[in-house]
Amino acid sequence: MESEEIRQLFLDFFAAREHRVLPSASLIPANDPSLLWTAAGMVPFKPYFTGTAEPEHRRVATCQKCLRTPDIESVGKTARHLTFFEMLGNFSFGDYFKEEAIPWAWELVTKRFGLSPEQLWVSVYLDDDEAYHLWRKVGVPEARIVRLGKETNFWEIGVGPCGPCSEIHFDFGPEHSCGPDCGVGCDCDRFLEIWNLVFIQFYRDEAGNYSPLAQKGIDTGMGLERIATVLQGGKTAFDTDLFRDVIEEIAEVLKVDYGAGGDVGRAVKVIADHTRAVTFAIADGALPSNEGRGYVIRRLLRRAIRFGKLFGCEEPFLDRVAVRVIDKMGAVYPELGQQKRHILRTIRIEEGRFLETLSLGTEILNRMIADARAQGQRTLSGEAAFKLYDTYGFPLELTEEICAEEGLTVDRQGFATAMAQQRERARQARETTEYLGERERFYREARDAGIGSRFTGYYALEEPAR
Ligand code: ATP
Ligand code: MG
Ligand code: MG
Ligand code: MG
Repeated sequence: MESEEIRQLFLDFFAAREHRVLPSASLIPANDPSLLWTAAGMVPFKPYFTGTAEPEHRRVATCQKCLRTPDIESVGKTARHLTFFEMLGNFSFGDYFKEEAIPWAWELVTKRFGLSPEQLWVSVYLDDDEAYHLWRKVGVPEARIVRLGKETNFWEIGVGPCGPCSEIHFDFGPEHSCGPDCGVGCDCDRFLEIWNLVFIQFYRDEAGNYSPLAQKGIDTGMGLERIATVLQGGKTAFDTDLFRDVIEEIAEVLKVDYGAGGDVGRAVKVIADHTRAVTFAIADGALPSNEGRGYVIRRLLRRAIRFGKLFGCEEPFLDRVAVRVIDKMGAVYPELGQQKRHILRTIRIEEGRFLETLSLGTEILNRMIADARAQGQRTLSGEAAFKLYDTYGFPLELTEEICAEEGLTVDRQGFATAMAQQRERARQARETTEYLGERERFYREARDAGIGSRFTGYYALEEPAR
């Protein structure tokens, strides 16, 4: 089943159960300065759960564009993480609850998507007997229901509505087990969490007490790339139709054999994922910069470029990859087509800029690493990392990654100090300039621009008019 069919089947399934299907919201959360990115399907509906707004529809289903920066370094390392992904979700705002959500999820996964129940496991929160019995009722055997703790199976964000979760995991089989302790929720590649169902049923107050909510809610999220991986018989999202053309393009540009796996495989995956994320983020209005969202874009782009360079790619190429992303996803997300020129231009400019300084910066970093080593240090100084950031545009995390490959850590505290000192210097410089009179400022600017002056007073009273 191709991704387009999966997406549609999910939405149709819930539409047939009186859900209003809404389009994906932007990756940039509206009216929510507390969030950098939309990282889950529920983000646009937060006010309905917290009760600060009234929903127009009590049942909603979406396919939401998501971006998760905490997962950046997992891409290509774990089999399951992407930075950008699509989350399929069904929501109830004070309408149906577990009794409906659980059987529907099971029906969709086993009957409509046709996954074999023997390959599925379910997790419930420690004391959530209600969910446990509902899973038993749809036919999940006792042996394949596990009770997990707060870390994975309870959703809360400080004060406000919260509740236990239940997840459906796909089992790739015991031959993928990482050891005798391997089980659902393990970080290895045997189990793949495909769907998370959150049962919003409590209110957590300032003192940390939980009281039952009168209006309960459902918030679920299924990763489209993950269900596609399983349905298409692959091991990772990169094996699905969502990535096929993108991977092909990268392999062609880098002149590598993606099938070779190892470092090549990882580089191709990182480039594919990051380009997709950046393409979508720029379409939604983000731009590369040194702060906030822009910094994330910059970090993703520069990381992708560096991985390309590892394979000798010296020329800008990410726009070619982005074209493939737009071709594949444009029908579902028309904003990609509408913003195509802007997206490609932005990527091209950023890539060109970074390539100019990358070689020089890498050379300098390598020297810094060698020096640190020669002195028996295991840490790169904060000033060194800051110099790379300030002069060569190396995001701190990039320096950290390169250092880590060489067995060094970076002094983050020192970096922050160097950054603060530079800000202070800039502030003082600004103040000093403001303090100067109009005239002095003019001469300074002229001097800085390389315009000199000649004293002619010994032999002339006035410069002749020209
Ligand atoms: P994981 O434990 O694998 O990191 P999660 O528990 O953080 O996933 P949730 O927050 O429960 O994920 O999100 C709901 C669903 O979204 C997951 O069940 C999964 O299918 C999908 N998902 C989450 N993070 C990613 C990601 N980085 N890449 C692709 N899909 C993801
Ligand atoms: Mg996670
Ligand atoms: Mg999880
Ligand atoms: Mg989860």
